[in-house]
Amino acid sequence: GGFESLSLSPNVYNAIKKKGYRVPTPIQRKTMPLILSGIDVVAMARTGSGKTAAFLIPMLEKLKEHVPHNGVRALILSPTRDLAIQTQKFTKELGKFTDLRTSLLVGGESFETQFEELAQSPDIIIATPGRLMHHLSEVDDMSLRTVQYVVFDEADSLFGMGFAEQLHKILTQLSENRQTLLFSATLPSALAEFAKAGLRDPQLVRL
Ligand code: AMP
Repeated sequence: GGFESLSLSPNVYNAIKKKGYRVPTPIQRKTMPLILSGIDVVAMARTGSGKTAAFLIPMLEKLKEHVPHNGVRALILSPTRDLAIQTQKFTKELGKFTDLRTSLLVGGESFETQFEELAQSPDIIIATPGRLMHHLSEVDDMSLRTVQYVVFDEADSLFGMGFAEQLHKILTQLSENRQTLLFSATLPSALAEFAKAGLRDPQLVRL
């Protein structure tokens, strides 16, 4: 059950080793094979469990390399600016041997810089819901239709912070043809309802 058993491409595998990860954490061991197989997953995992790499490693493996003019292929939604920044840093580290491009859409940063990043055709968007919705309403040719891989990270916080309506709106803008992952420490009923609406026959993983 080590990283080598996942048959990852050298680009991803070498970045994991470079980061100093020797063996997968329990949540990684349970979720990564499922995610790599393409199914939707609800994972009960808290911060510190290694949950971020659990969804980043399969994402990088699936995206492989930058595709110009293809539209965004992966979307990660974070409840806070700080978590989104941290997740982008992680994505860059684990993706350092790929040429995948990321764009960070969070509040408190200039729209100009974010518009410029979006114009560079990022493969991955890491966003907080409010700023993402803002961009979707302001930028005419911005679309989530090309997104194949969606992560709702710390989903209980996303809901706890009052993003429910925006999250439901985001769901309506996504293609049916996608893989959706939800990571959360807890699964309150509003979140279970959301998972029912947004995920397809998800496999529930708990430690
Ligand atoms: P997270 O739960 O995603 O916030 O990760 C918590 C910490 O665990 C981060 O500092 C990660 O870099 C680290 N980490 C994630 N996966 C592994 C692993 N397989 N081995 C060692 N450290 C890890």
